[in-house]
Amino acid sequence: MGKGQKKLFNLIPVLFVFLFFLSSFPAWSQDPIKFEDYFLNKAMRINFYMVGDAKEESIIIQSIYQEDLWPESKTNLTNPFNYGHYFIKVYEVASNKLIYANGFDCQFGEYKTTTPALNGVKKVFQRAIRIPWPKRPVNLVFEVRDRKNILHPLTIETIDPDDYHHIKESNKTGDYIFEVKKRGDPQEKVDLVFLAEGYTAEDRDKFVGDVKRFTGYLFETEPYKSNQDKFNIYGVFRASAERGMDEPRQKAYKNTVLKASFNAFDLDRYMLTEEGFLLREMAAEVPYDTIVVLVNSKRYGGGGIYNDYCITTVDHPASKGVFLHEFGHSFAGLADEYYTSDVAYNEFYPRGVEPLEPNITALLDPENLKWKNLVSPGVKIPTEYGKEELEKLQADRRANFQEMTKALEEAKKKNLKEAEIKKLQKKYQDKDETIQARIQEVRNRYRDLEDKVGAFEGAGYSAKGLYRPMIYCLMISSPKVEFCKVCQRAIQQMIDYYCR
Ligand SMILES: [Zn+2]
Repeated sequence: MGKGQKKLFNLIPVLFVFLFFLSSFPAWSQDPIKFEDYFLNKAMRINFYMVGDAKEESIIIQSIYQEDLWPESKTNLTNPFNYGHYFIKVYEVASNKLIYANGFDCQFGEYKTTTPALNGVKKVFQRAIRIPWPKRPVNLVFEVRDRKNILHPLTIETIDPDDYHHIKESNKTGDYIFEVKKRGDPQEKVDLVFLAEGYTAEDRDKFVGDVKRFTGYLFETEPYKSNQDKFNIYGVFRASAERGMDEPRQKAYKNTVLKASFNAFDLDRYMLTEEGFLLREMAAEVPYDTIVVLVNSKRYGGGGIYNDYCITTVDHPASKGVFLHEFGHSFAGLADEYYTSDVAYNEFYPRGVEPLEPNITALLDPENLKWKNLVSPGVKIPTEYGKEELEKLQADRRANFQEMTKALEEAKKKNLKEAEIKKLQKKYQDKDETIQARIQEVRNRYRDLEDKVGAFEGAGYSAKGLYRPMIYCLMISSPKVEFCKVCQRAIQQMIDYYCR
């Protein structure tokens, strides 16, 4: 990033005072907004850059597009959920009335918690967001949360809807568009669009098949299963020059439409696309509320960002679980419930702050647990489930496996006979079986808890201090490929939000 960008970070003090004034308005305490009074039945797509590092950040609007239809709810205009580390709030200039609000997450939000960002390395990311097309000039206020999750204004931009610079071109691109399922008016349904990534021209039929297969995965799983009639499903196909996606750690690069890449933030299985503008341009060829990118690959991995998109490979045996998990992030604002036993606390969820997501808690006030009314009768909060014993046994298993690997390598070096190697192997396998039997013993002792809701320690990447609602869930790991009851309720609420 050049030096010239630096001035973009300077906030004008007067503007800041005005922003503070605006943000002090509670977003959801006023009378409901009548859509027709303030908006046309069209959408405004705002392309913007998010620039900065851990200390400073800025939002710069790049372009504004008009889309022919507002496909989201016309009655839920100020998002009832408090999800997302960013918020966009739209105030009518003339009345200073809040007429639209929505929370979102973005790749920049994750970037700013990484080591390079903490070291002051600035990066820029594309993001696009959509609001209903206002009839009169509006102030767009972007807000960002601090470490305590309190929203603060970041930038404000006055938009005149009649400005002739806004782009009103047709959304026809020549892409192959198809409808998998249409159950009703987009404003009363969840409109899900699948986008093709890393499919060549000859893979078009495969993409159509994959879209149907993934639609099937969704509707095999509760609560989507009981809500099938509330979904419209579309596919948008644009051919890539090559199959797959980039894998920087393997030094393997593919020329694909959305430039999806593994090793996002230098993580092994984390795949994202940085083509935020193109992503929305392709999605806008159909009425959509939520985006799923299918990547034509056998590798394991994916990613999901709340109120943006999720992405998954299609041909790994675990792709169904990855898709449902990542869609849980992007569609319903769910948190990861998994954790590593050696990470006691982490920076992603600061200690002493209740996470925004509906499915994990810091349990700061056990009497008022956020899923209190779903807790099973007789289950204690927090809920003991043999965690320490299980973690110890799992660590023993890992150590035994490592010892075996080492011993086998040495045996090879010493040119031991096959029979001797097998004997050696058996010794470790027997030990593994013994440990597994003990794991089973512990699990059996707590078997009664497997279908119960409580507060189980270990969630949000942290072994201590964060709790999840059930032992198993697709947001941690689920032998039955099911969401826990709290996640199911959160997904149901999101479905209802789009259908009202
Ligand atoms: Zn869950």
